[in-house]
Amino acid sequence: MKYNRILLKLSGESLTGEKGYGIDEVRLNDYARQIKEAVQMGVQVGIVIGGGNIFRGLSGSQKGFDRVKGDQMGMLATVINSLALSSALTAIGQKNRVYTSIRMEPVGELYSKWKAIESMQNGEVAILSGGTGNPFFTTDTASALRGIEIEADAMFKGTRVDGVYTADPEKDPSATKFDTISFDEVYDRGLRVMDLTATTMCKQNNLPIVVFDMDTYGNLKKVLSGDNIGTLVHV
Ligand code: UDP
Repeated sequence: MKYNRILLKLSGESLTGEKGYGIDEVRLNDYARQIKEAVQMGVQVGIVIGGGNIFRGLSGSQKGFDRVKGDQMGMLATVINSLALSSALTAIGQKNRVYTSIRMEPVGELYSKWKAIESMQNGEVAILSGGTGNPFFTTDTASALRGIEIEADAMFKGTRVDGVYTADPEKDPSATKFDTISFDEVYDRGLRVMDLTATTMCKQNNLPIVVFDMDTYGNLKKVLSGDNIGTLVHV
């Protein structure tokens, strides 16, 4: 499959790298260099980053935070991570633009599908921050939504696991990896590729998901070149 435009989902938690908290500049710079390589291959890249390294509304509510305020804190965390990635991309000469799901100038421009597509067509990486702008959603859902909106060929879900397994490989050593799997089989087997809202949106709108290990340098380029190192979830 040739990818002309992708929506890359990066988890906030992965940004902590070796540090275990906050933003690890080594991991951040690794991501930035991989993203620049993708653009150099002629791929248009839109990015959604999570905020789990800073704040999650659900865990906040378990500690007594109001859920809506906690989710708003989580969405702001994604903006912080997006600004960090923007800065790292700019530092290596990769043009990019931060969009925000709610009005927040001059931190970023208010997101619209048309502006984001225009950016990508001009060789800029479009960083789509602030989640969906609504509480009770996740950045996986934001990635599904934005991926569909910007008419991406696929959502690339960069994680620390190298694909979809029959069971959690970190808990079950006998788990085996799928090269490809259909959305229906993901449901039937009860696999958690992403949360159900996000998975269902991708299925209904025919957006395939490529799950791969983005924390190993060079993997993004490999997947874009057609190496079967992750798992392709298809309709
Ligand atoms: N969030 C939200 N609406 C969205 C996207 C995110 O309320 O559309 C909040 C939610 O509280 C979530 C937090 O932002 O826990 C951080 O996002 P997520 O947990 O998806 O980050 P990741 O796990 O990818 O680091």
